Amino acid sequence: MATKTADKKAGDGAVLALSSFKYDRETGLLVRGQVFHLKGYVNDPLLEGMDYVRPVKRGTILLECGECGATFLDESARERHGKHFHDKWCDCGWTPPAHVVDKDQAMADHMKRCDVWQRERAVAAERHLETALASA
Ligand SMILES: [Zn+2]
Ligand SMILES: [Zn+2]
Repeated sequence: MATKTADKKAGDGAVLALSSFKYDRETGLLVRGQVFHLKGYVNDPLLEGMDYVRPVKRGTILLECGECGATFLDESARERHGKHFHDKWCDCGWTPPAHVVDKDQAMADHMKRCDVWQRERAVAAERHLETALASA
């Protein structure tokens, strides 16, 4: 049976994140349900001891993020990840810059401007249509 997405299988040494935390600069924030590989840091055993991660059975089917290739145990984890990393927040395609800490506030500020901007565009389009009809 052909699958439409390239499902991945967990390899040796894959672990499941049991809560959201930042592992290292490369992984960035891991969401609960994300599957990744420990890199052999000194603190790695602590992560398991403190229930941050749990080993994943080899061969477990994983869902993959279509944008960055991160892998997850279930759809809700993939969604959480997508919301945090890849969502375009506004209909116009605007998304808060990565360096902005308070993304909700940045979004609220944008929406105010975006509304005005979109209204202006609508008015301009209407005017354009009127002119076109008048000269027809
Ligand atoms: Zn991703
Ligand atoms: Zn917008």
